[in-house]
Amino acid sequence: MIVMKFGGTSVQDAVAIRRVASIVAGRRKEQPLVVVSAMGGVTDKLVQVAEAAGRSDLSAAVELLSGIRQRHVDAAAAMLTPDAARAFAAELDSRIGEATALAARIAAQGSASPAQHSHMLTFGELLSSVLVAAAFEALGIPSAHADARQLVVTDARHPAATPLANPTRARLLEAIPPLLEAGRVPVLGGFIASSESGEVTTLGRGGSDYSAAIIGASLEASRIEIWTDVSGILTTDPRMCPTARRIEEISFHEATELACFGAKVLHPATLLPAIEHNIPVAVLNSHKPQEAGTIIRASAAKGPSAFRAIAVKRKIAVFNIHAPRNVGSLRFLDDLFSLLRWHHLQSEIVAISGASASVAVEGGSELVKLTAELETLGNVDFEPGMAIVCLVGEDIRGRVGIASEIFGVLAAGGINIRMIAQGASEISLSFVVEEKDAVHAVQLLHRHLFEQLAPTPSHPSAAVQKAVRA
Ligand code: ADP
Ligand code: ASP
Ligand code: MG
Repeated sequence: MIVMKFGGTSVQDAVAIRRVASIVAGRRKEQPLVVVSAMGGVTDKLVQVAEAAGRSDLSAAVELLSGIRQRHVDAAAAMLTPDAARAFAAELDSRIGEATALAARIAAQGSASPAQHSHMLTFGELLSSVLVAAAFEALGIPSAHADARQLVVTDARHPAATPLANPTRARLLEAIPPLLEAGRVPVLGGFIASSESGEVTTLGRGGSDYSAAIIGASLEASRIEIWTDVSGILTTDPRMCPTARRIEEISFHEATELACFGAKVLHPATLLPAIEHNIPVAVLNSHKPQEAGTIIRASAAKGPSAFRAIAVKRKIAVFNIHAPRNVGSLRFLDDLFSLLRWHHLQSEIVAISGASASVAVEGGSELVKLTAELETLGNVDFEPGMAIVCLVGEDIRGRVGIASEIFGVLAAGGINIRMIAQGASEISLSFVVEEKDAVHAVQLLHRHLFEQLAPTPSHPSAAVQKAVRA
């Protein structure tokens, strides 16, 4: 069997869902299981519903929910028979009723608890998965909706719960093989799950990719396909650099590094289950299904450059801490990391020299409040408004002169580097620049590392300007 995951833009309306049906129809022999995201933009709207309810503005919450309802009604009307559309409308109204009742409870309390916030976000995938299963039936693909909340088991953490492999596998193995054997295509919502005690959870924003990987690993899929709105993993984010090119093959480790450093095309945890079970993952474009996409596997053929791709993580803040010389470095580091752990801050990159350390963490100027506590360790400079640029490639391991080449390109472009780290895995080289310089840095490096190999015509820069404004 194979797992095919379709993201938000791939199921955003009836036209997109029809395209999904035709892609799935072409894979029937491989026994596909389909995982879908919420219709594009719906999860963001549900965040707004929870926020409006949290301000006790129930009428704004109800209006937003009615917009979400209408999108599903319109898509259903364009694809389903009148009877099927009526059955779907009944399900839709009951779910929107539940979401409205939840919004009313939040409004009465005056704020959403983390569990209520997660619960609100699950309605997008709940609705899209029922709609897509009904659309498949209407379009001639025998299908069956399976409720991911009953099948994917997690711990009870919000907003991003961790899947529990054993109970998830047991439940999936009971529910899914009979459907596949009966020739049906199971359709599940990604992103949503529940804890062992039955509390509804989510896997965190962008988590449908992770759902697909966990389901694929549990059912020993021969391939996991991530269908999205770009033709595979590209050499960088095309919104920042329209000349980004498709990567044919990339290793699990390279792709994981890219995802961890901000390449939104894959949720960072997606590849863990695939690595464990050695399942190849393909990234494909649902808008252009004929294009080859990218294949991610344990080891990938060399590419044209030592670097495979560039990723950027924005909204980074850096703390530079200089401890007095008489403090032992072990004690200093111990205290520093205890303090970060206490505040649930994960260090993105760290540079240490003696009793001085620079730590880049996700966050903005609100983190200034930590300065006073860090000052118990030494002098502290706080620099918000930064970004991490990460260059990834297994071939950079041990190559002499790479760092000076990269930093030469940035220096020639007038870009100041605030911090540098080369991970122990030596498949990535990361550095911190001011966030306002990030897009320029990526464009300069992309041109130097990828475009000089074989130039591609540059596209209009509207997308770039949009990214700069973002
Ligand atoms: P989906 O809704 O299908 O999950 P996402 O929006 O989460 O899609 O991810 C796809 C987007 O990821 C692309 O539209 C692109 O803008 C962005 N992206 C960032 N880095 C890369 C990259 N290296 N390769 C391809 N896409 C990237
Ligand atoms: N719908 C969820 C989100 O927007 C999960 C996903 O699309 O992967 O974050
Ligand atoms: Mg995504």
